[in-house]
Amino acid sequence: MKILIVEDEPVSRRLLEATLLRWNYDVVTTTDGTEAWEVLQKPEAPSLVISDWMMPDMDGLELCHRIRESEKLGYTYLVMLTTKGRKEDVIKGLEAGADDYLTKPFDHEELRCRVKIGERIINLERKILQLANTDSLTGSLTRRAFMEKIEIEVERAIREDRPLSLVITDLDHFKNVNDRYGHQTGDLVLQKFAEQLCTLSRQYDFVGRYGGEEFAICFPGVDDPSVISIAERMRKQVADLRVVIMADSSCSIQITASFGAATLQREGKETLTSLIARADDALYKAKRKGRNRVCLAND
Ligand SMILES: [Mg+2]
Repeated sequence: MKILIVEDEPVSRRLLEATLLRWNYDVVTTTDGTEAWEVLQKPEAPSLVISDWMMPDMDGLELCHRIRESEKLGYTYLVMLTTKGRKEDVIKGLEAGADDYLTKPFDHEELRCRVKIGERIINLERKILQLANTDSLTGSLTRRAFMEKIEIEVERAIREDRPLSLVITDLDHFKNVNDRYGHQTGDLVLQKFAEQLCTLSRQYDFVGRYGGEEFAICFPGVDDPSVISIAERMRKQVADLRVVIMADSSCSIQITASFGAATLQREGKETLTSLIARADDALYKAKRKGRNRVCLAND
């Protein structure tokens, strides 16, 4: 667990840092609210913050307000650690959105317990979020979670002028599988299909269940023609798959899928909506051309 320390006073900062390091936490230190706010905007930002109140520039109270107003994904747990110990200060701090309030000088055991509480809440929140974001049948992201994630990735790719590709894939004639072999086999086919897509994805790629038998895969940092060769490998792996049917284990079925790929255009006015529309068009082109193939979107 990563903890962000916000403290302008060097001796207090070092003491707190040494204490947290001794308890095996990863620690990031900052000297005022402005610097802390910048750290919190970065990817993989700490979820637990221990902040002083009185600091130059942006103080702890203002930092607290800012954190609560931001719509960043994931909860930030904030412990206010300050010399301001009057009842009305405590109330003011908690009202600003602090989750906990401690006065300096802090008692080591008490701080340790309170940090543990924060850690527990953050882990719980992560678990709930993971459940909400995962498609229970296939283990891939839900459509909503996929859209949230790809929106961030597209913004980043545009900002940093980096490539990004999107593939939308759809099982061919899936309705026939359900009609002929029943929904249990249909579900198994979907699981195996998603499994193949995930196996061929790299660490930074992500797969989402876009519709019933339709999946979307985002490839940050990937341009065409690389995306075509990845999609082609996926297509082949799916076509080579034999899914054993539920009613008769001696019998297996073969499936195929069509793939539409689009690469983010870095000139002009590409948006997530237009990228999806182009990948969708490419998928329909693949279907029209006879299915079980990969098509790239036109620019
Ligand atoms: Mg201070």
